[in-house]
Amino acid sequence: MKPSKHIAIIGGGIVGITSALEFQRRGNRVTLVDPKQPGRETSYGNTGVLSDGSVVVSNNPGLRKRLPKLIRKKSNALNYDLGFVLKRLPWVTRFLSYCTERHLDHSSQALRALQAHSLRLHLNLIKDAEVENLLRKTGWLKVFRSEATYKAYAMELKVFERTGVGHTIYTAEELKQLEPGLNQIFHCGVLLHNACSVASPAALCDAYLKLFIEAGGKVLLNSARKIQHKENWEVELQTSDPLVADALVIAAGPWSAEVVKNLGYKIPMAWERGYHWHLEPGDGPILKRAVHDVDAGYVMTPQQQGIRVTSGVELADRDAPNDNRQIEKSILSARQAASLGNKVEETPWMGRRPTLVDSLPMIGPAPRHPGLWFNFGHQHNGLSTSAASAEVLADLFEEKTPNINFAPFRPDRFRI
Ligand SMILES: Cc1cc2nc3c(=O)[nH]c(=O)nc-3n(C[C@H](O)[C@H](O)[C@H](O)COP(=O)(O)OP(=O)(O)OC[C@H]3O[C@@H](n4cnc5c(N)ncnc54)[C@H](O)[C@@H]3O)c2cc1C
Repeated sequence: MKPSKHIAIIGGGIVGITSALEFQRRGNRVTLVDPKQPGRETSYGNTGVLSDGSVVVSNNPGLRKRLPKLIRKKSNALNYDLGFVLKRLPWVTRFLSYCTERHLDHSSQALRALQAHSLRLHLNLIKDAEVENLLRKTGWLKVFRSEATYKAYAMELKVFERTGVGHTIYTAEELKQLEPGLNQIFHCGVLLHNACSVASPAALCDAYLKLFIEAGGKVLLNSARKIQHKENWEVELQTSDPLVADALVIAAGPWSAEVVKNLGYKIPMAWERGYHWHLEPGDGPILKRAVHDVDAGYVMTPQQQGIRVTSGVELADRDAPNDNRQIEKSILSARQAASLGNKVEETPWMGRRPTLVDSLPMIGPAPRHPGLWFNFGHQHNGLSTSAASAEVLADLFEEKTPNINFAPFRPDRFRI
């Protein structure tokens, strides 16, 4: 066993929290740094799916065909701010350059391994944290309003076959039994039957964080302003003395590129923003699982606060004001699909999916700085993949071979 080190983790979303737990469990002293209560940004408001089969990246070969419709804003799956897209045109062009069969094959194998392993680890962590009450082992349901949209889903089904994602196809009649809370407007559905979900991603973060703190982990409510290597790693903090550590893990999700910028890293990251709004359940049977209405481009899922409706992708500046049109449309569509009551909150929540140009996270050593480690860019799947990402990182830190192929996630796959 390696001697204990002091590890500072910058960013306390689900990726930072699971990293903190993993490094702590391997005998290190760990400090988690976040200006907010951990788990209150992107990891707060996601759909709560612990997926083992979200393996088809958005920049897949099918995107090229759908692009004209998306550009004309004819699909609620995407909203975009033209100014942002023009400003980020090099990023958008690079992102689109990955819409190839080759990348689909590469990324789906990589994500499948990461997600399947992560799901196993989460199930253990959930047991350790004694929050089985949050867990639903009811799968992740995709529903299709027409035969045409189901047919267009053939590529995903092929990838599921190729990568071993367990799934079951349901006819309209069978959907009635499976999910009685759905109105009968759907042609058919596909259930990823091994996927799970949680009734509150924030409560899951809190429960994991409790494990960390009870085992002696330290949380610093502060913002990392600048990181630099002197004799050790030093983190300049916004409101207190610098924090000194043997090694640093950057897990600041959508803020990660900014945190490492002063060291000369140019991380090819943008943000796919997304919204949620809770609705009171209506008169019908309550939903049992997360349901993705593929035609209408949103997801709804039962949560502690109500039925959470989450929107598709909005390409806009990370900190631009909210544009509620996409989530409002999602709610209109959700009302067609299930019996839903009043909105619970006055305004929606907004989060930022941190996305790298190849839609894969960066997990591993920073290319030019020994002792600096990256764990960010988890895009649409950070809740699902966080536990395995943390394990891979800690294995690499200890110079062990990880349980899964980590090469697709290496930070030095890009010239940064
Ligand atoms: C609408 C929506 C639905 C989603 N649904 C799912 C889903 O069902 N399943 C799934 O797996 N994924 C889902 N995702 C994606 C998932 O939420 C993200 O991939 C994940 O939360 C990213 O976690 P993170 O820890 O990297 O980032 P975050 O949760 O954003 O955490 C980053 C942390 O860094 C902190 N930070 C920022 N700057 C600094 C600084 N300078 N110093 C210190 N700390 C700093 C922030 O305060 C924050 O707490 C969804 C995302 C959205 C938006």
